[in-house]
Amino acid sequence: MATRSVARAHAKVADARREFHHQLSTRLISENQGIAVENLSVGGLARTRLAKSVHDAGWAQFIGMLEYKAERYGRTFIRIGRFEPTSQVCSTCGTKDGPKPLSVREWTCTACGTVHDRDTNAARNIKQAAGLAASACGAPIRPEPVLAQREEAGSHGFPTGHRAA
Ligand SMILES: [Zn+2]
Repeated sequence: MATRSVARAHAKVADARREFHHQLSTRLISENQGIAVENLSVGGLARTRLAKSVHDAGWAQFIGMLEYKAERYGRTFIRIGRFEPTSQVCSTCGTKDGPKPLSVREWTCTACGTVHDRDTNAARNIKQAAGLAASACGAPIRPEPVLAQREEAGSHGFPTGHRAA
């Protein structure tokens, strides 16, 4: 009996997560013309103490949703390879500051003195790398993400109930 209710609880958590991923991916795709993601080393992280959170987070499932929704609604979708050291490079001056343990959430560039939030800095680098990658294959994209017009989004048939306030 206990085993069965634990299984039920797990199924409920999985359903809630899938619903959250659907809502978030729909919102991201409806509000942006281009999305760039970094191919995280989930296999590598799975061997660390972060393993549980990486698997629980369902990263691959979420990225899959982003990708098919981008295609469906004509958005640009770009993956950045893991060879880009997005969390080591200063997005302000481009200096490679060296590897940082995941526990380091904020750091100061030793070259230009800019204080970075780890994730925001990595996101800037991913965006820049995505622009370069798109130019290299002959499909330049705008460097800044462009907000979709509300009317345009509506005409593409985005479920309005899924748009966060
Ligand atoms: Zn710098």
